[in-house]
Amino acid sequence: MRLIDDEPPAAADAVVIGAGVVGAACARELAAEGLSVCVLERLAPAAGTSSSGEGNLLVSDKLPGPELTLAQHSLRLWARFAEEAGGGGSAGPRFGFEFEAKGGLVVADSPESLAGLAGVMAGQRAAGVEVTEVDADRLRDIEPLLASDLAGGAYYPQDCQVQPMLAVRALLAGAVRHGARVVGGAEVLGAVRESDGALRVHTSRGTVRTSRVVVAAGVASPEVARRLGGRAPVLPRRGHIVVTEPLPPVIRHKVYEAGYVSDVGSDDGTLLCSSVIEGTVSGPVLLGSTRELVGFDRRMSTQAVAAICRRAARLFPFLSEVRAIRAYLGLRPASPDHLPIIGADPDVPGLWHATGHEGAGVGLALGTADLLRALIVGAAPPVDPAPFAPSRPGLRATADDPAAREATAGDSAVDGTIADPAAGDAAGDPTDREHADA
Ligand SMILES: Cc1cc2nc3c(=O)[nH]c(=O)nc-3n(C[C@H](O)[C@H](O)[C@H](O)COP(=O)(O)OP(=O)(O)OC[C@H]3O[C@@H](n4cnc5c(N)ncnc54)[C@H](O)[C@@H]3O)c2cc1C
Repeated sequence: MRLIDDEPPAAADAVVIGAGVVGAACARELAAEGLSVCVLERLAPAAGTSSSGEGNLLVSDKLPGPELTLAQHSLRLWARFAEEAGGGGSAGPRFGFEFEAKGGLVVADSPESLAGLAGVMAGQRAAGVEVTEVDADRLRDIEPLLASDLAGGAYYPQDCQVQPMLAVRALLAGAVRHGARVVGGAEVLGAVRESDGALRVHTSRGTVRTSRVVVAAGVASPEVARRLGGRAPVLPRRGHIVVTEPLPPVIRHKVYEAGYVSDVGSDDGTLLCSSVIEGTVSGPVLLGSTRELVGFDRRMSTQAVAAICRRAARLFPFLSEVRAIRAYLGLRPASPDHLPIIGADPDVPGLWHATGHEGAGVGLALGTADLLRALIVGAAPPVDPAPFAPSRPGLRATADDPAAREATAGDSAVDGTIADPAAGDAAGDPTDREHADA
């Protein structure tokens, strides 16, 4: 099956900008609905943040509310998709993506942290999350190599994991099977509105005419939306991961410390680190993760790497004897209120958004795609769309809005209207182009 084309078709019912996990999921969903779909990717599939994460599909790290509801819906769709794609594991079929329903173990290293976790569990349980309290002396029945002095924890059997790059490939393959075209090396430069209201999208590889454009460009979404006359207030939130040498399957679940949940929802821009640890099908253990607001700075931080290793050895002391073989980082696409941006642009007819998923884009991708499909075709939405609407008050620009400042930093190309594709050259984040190698 040919996955990547060199040039766009003359026309498509829908154009999806970005072949990360969110764009790939949207393309598959819209193509399955019967729309002709063209995916435009300036580099290659999963060249953006989708190659820099861990691939957890979590309910455990979400507090009751719209994001948890979307995650629960999304998780059901991932399980169904894994079945359709033939299950996970290296022995799986060509487009398997290592789907593992491995469960998550959240551990607390102090009585205070355990008390906080108990409160989180109670709320999640009421929202339909399966969770069991684990006493301190039972933690090592679940993960035998955990430190012996932890205060207790919680086990979440619904948490799952995928290999995100393989998942992107499987989703794109699904889209192509339904007739979608995926064009690599095609940077979207802008669009012009034609006399009948259709949009002609201009790329570095030619043009495509359409009536619907979906911005799924991750941390480049502000720039891409701006080239199309819209607005997507997304900021990069940097995160590091450390990878160990391959080990036998000694860590069986996703294990993370209770403080991770508050780090996820925090607005603190300085370096935050809470331990997130998991084995992989191929052997290396992934140690995460940090969060910090440092713009598009993609330089490796030794401080971040050291903090991750220190925290990981606190939970699993044997890791202090294990070699780290590499580290990598990525930029989470974060919205100002930590909720993804899904739905119609309030100002530009035909422009749609599926972006801003921060540290949960893999987990939320299929639910996002399902919601977007329903909104585009006018079907009943699977979850309440209001909290994710691009027009919601939490996304409104203000004079001192950091997202708006970041989005317009270095502006030089387009004036914010769908008009002049020639003007929309390479403004925005120059370092994005280097990321293909990361
Ligand atoms: C350290 C770390 C750990 C993480 N762990 C997890 C996890 O365990 N679980 C989870 O769910 N999430 C995790 N995430 C978050 C997750 O990786 C992201 O939310 C997700 O990958 C975002 O996907 P996306 O498709 O929106 O963006 P991207 O993957 O960045 O895709 C956007 C695409 O748009 C393309 N593009 C940009 N501009 C243009 C243009 N002008 N024209 C054409 N194409 C363009 C880019 O090249 C890119 O391929 C993690 C992230 C990090 C950094």
